[in-house]
Amino acid sequence: MPATSSNKPYRVGRSKTGLGLFATKPIKKGTRIIRYYGPILDSRIPEHDDIENKYLFELNGRWTIDGSVRKNLARYINHSCRPNAESDVRPRERKVFIRAIKNIEPGDEINYDYGTDYFKAYLKPIGCKCESCEKKRKKLRAEARTERAKVKARTERKAQKAGAKPVKKKKLNGVAVGKANGRARA
Ligand SMILES: [Zn+2]
Repeated sequence: MPATSSNKPYRVGRSKTGLGLFATKPIKKGTRIIRYYGPILDSRIPEHDDIENKYLFELNGRWTIDGSVRKNLARYINHSCRPNAESDVRPRERKVFIRAIKNIEPGDEINYDYGTDYFKAYLKPIGCKCESCEKKRKKLRAEARTERAKVKARTERKAQKAGAKPVKKKKLNGVAVGKANGRARA
């Protein structure tokens, strides 16, 4: 029994989008949770520069961590637009740590923001599935439903008005006359 694995405050588990990393213990805001680990690639070496997978973590223009290795459990952490963790990037040490930016409770999925480039390249085309975006979509759908209901009600009212046209016209004339009189008096 590897004592280290049970000491870790996380486990790999099922998430909505496949696998994810979940807290197994309370993790305090500011705590370093896990290192994003993998061989360091040098963009000046053509063979390194040719490597392409979705676990590449760019440290700067030159150095990139290839996080596709099995040992790197941090690769299971999914993106969120409103995350509870962040990547602490240390280009000089060529290291990345994932750190809690909120208090995380056992059972919570651990997320960080993958950044704009990744979002544009991988998430925007398929639609981000993070909780925050799902909520936003749900809200938009609800708003669209409300709007459709409003339009329907308006159309029905108009149809009713059209049916009661003579009465309405008389009333309108009355108002207009009243206003004109008021102005003349003042
Ligand atoms: Zn999102």
